Amino acid sequence: MNLLDAIDNLNIWKQGDKRAPHKPLLLLYALAEQVRNPDARFEFFRIEENIDQLLNDFYKSFPGRRHHVNDPFWRLRGDGIWKVESDGIIRETSSGGAYVSDLRKYNATGSFSKGVVQEIRNNPEVALQAARKLLNEHFPESLHQDILETVGLDYKTISAKEYISKKTKRDSTFRQKVLHAYGYSCAVCGFNLRMKTLPVGLEAAHIKWHQHGGPDAENNGLALCATHHKLLDSGVLALSDNYQIILSEWIFDPDRKNSFIREHHNREIRLPRNSNHLPKMDYIRWHRKEVFKEPELVLI
Ligand SMILES: [Zn+2]
Repeated sequence: MNLLDAIDNLNIWKQGDKRAPHKPLLLLYALAEQVRNPDARFEFFRIEENIDQLLNDFYKSFPGRRHHVNDPFWRLRGDGIWKVESDGIIRETSSGGAYVSDLRKYNATGSFSKGVVQEIRNNPEVALQAARKLLNEHFPESLHQDILETVGLDYKTISAKEYISKKTKRDSTFRQKVLHAYGYSCAVCGFNLRMKTLPVGLEAAHIKWHQHGGPDAENNGLALCATHHKLLDSGVLALSDNYQIILSEWIFDPDRKNSFIREHHNREIRLPRNSNHLPKMDYIRWHRKEVFKEPELVLI
């Protein structure tokens, strides 16, 4: 199986519209390493912590608890591009996963199939194309650069023309509709700077991600300044059922220099002018459940 076909057909755990970015993040990590080192091998006990950290950063944070990195590491074998070797027999769980203790004990080591290693060796660009597919499929655009920088893939190379035009095409009416609904100001802080008549630094954010079926509609959008958009997509800002802004305890503000962020905590957003455009509860709740990094901040 070649790499890009395998990525297109990746078998992702599905339950309703829940996120499952485990395999995509493991693959992004491994692809970046493979580009740097054609002989890359991934010993489970060495990469476990790194993948766990990626999941903490770009999925959810579970204080004091590890993510199940063993699942993507083991199950990726079923996608035709990954193999796992070990010094002993790895026992499988009833659901087809692997016991994490066995993966550690028998030094389970993952690597890309020979075909994929050769493909990337011949043309490293193919790894970047694969990364681009994974990002488009699983993460909002505002997080792409952060993810790529974290795993160490070159963002500039990956922002190929095709990628930009695809994105602009999809977003053009959504952006206009949402900015209009919110009177061309940030729903959190009211930011509404213009260059002549053109709004600058103001963006239309999806509440429920496009990647998980969130529609390009006003009731799934928020007009946000670039900073608040980033906070929303990163999961450190969410909305309550009463349209109040909730911040996550995972934001750190040691010098108290960011009071302009914290001051919005528990305040109602600036609502759209037309009540038909109010954010839909389903989308708000999806975002809180799948993206928000609990627990909620308690101000003292
Ligand atoms: Zn703002």
